[in-house]
Amino acid sequence: MKIVRTIAELTRDRPLQGTGPGTGLVPTMGAFHAGHLALFAAAREENDVVVASLFVNPAQFGPAEDLDRYPRDEDRDATLAEEAGVDVLFAPSVDEMYPDGYGTWVDVGELGRRLEGEFRPDHFRGVATVCLKLFNIVRPDRAYFGQKDAQQTAVVKRLVRDLNLDLEIRVVPTVRDDDGLALSSRNAYLSPKERETALALPRALATKDLAQARELLSNLDVDYVEEANFNGQRVLAAAVRVGKTRLIDNMILEGDPK
Ligand code: AMP
Repeated sequence: MKIVRTIAELTRDRPLQGTGPGTGLVPTMGAFHAGHLALFAAAREENDVVVASLFVNPAQFGPAEDLDRYPRDEDRDATLAEEAGVDVLFAPSVDEMYPDGYGTWVDVGELGRRLEGEFRPDHFRGVATVCLKLFNIVRPDRAYFGQKDAQQTAVVKRLVRDLNLDLEIRVVPTVRDDDGLALSSRNAYLSPKERETALALPRALATKDLAQARELLSNLDVDYVEEANFNGQRVLAAAVRVGKTRLIDNMILEGDPK
């Protein structure tokens, strides 16, 4: 596996792509867990070149959020990515992605302002912008995202449709621990006691019933519990805070991800 840090180097290698079924891109912020590995496996299955990006994107964090303490361990991530069959790990610096004078942002409209967007105002602007940049840099045929972040997936699909991008978005089911908690890099922040508390989130969503879910989460610090329709797929989605950790999760109620 090659680790690439600059856009120039990644672009130089691009002619190597395109001889077979194509290139798959898996955008990530690192601290890999089995959820990321499921995305790598899905990409490995249908592409001849698999590129994973590892970039903790400052543009999608609010000023009071966890950018500074977000878990980072590039050596471990590189080992896991290589074992998963990733060909290229693209790990640019912040300056490489947002050089001095950077000024262009993608506004995804109303979809980016609801639910997560209400509590994280510029989050989806940051997500959409970095995804568009990664799509332009890597030029993948397919890009892989997790159902865990259902609204993010909807935003990226909207971006692809609205800006006529020539790639397919694949959605991989949420990978959970044995106790039901959706894997997340942020789970590392939880103490054992907090983790116990956090289990109310998957239990509440598993009811697939809004009123019951709200009832089961009534003792928690809840940002939202809502039914949402993302591109024709109905989900029950929630965000809660356990101590200093903010967790999101969702269950599909009906419909295939489109
Ligand atoms: P992150 O590194 O947290 O930005 O996540 C990178 C990608 O992995 C995103 O598309 C996430 O939706 C996806 N992902 C994160 N957690 C999970 C999970 N538990 N199951 C499946 N996909 C996940």
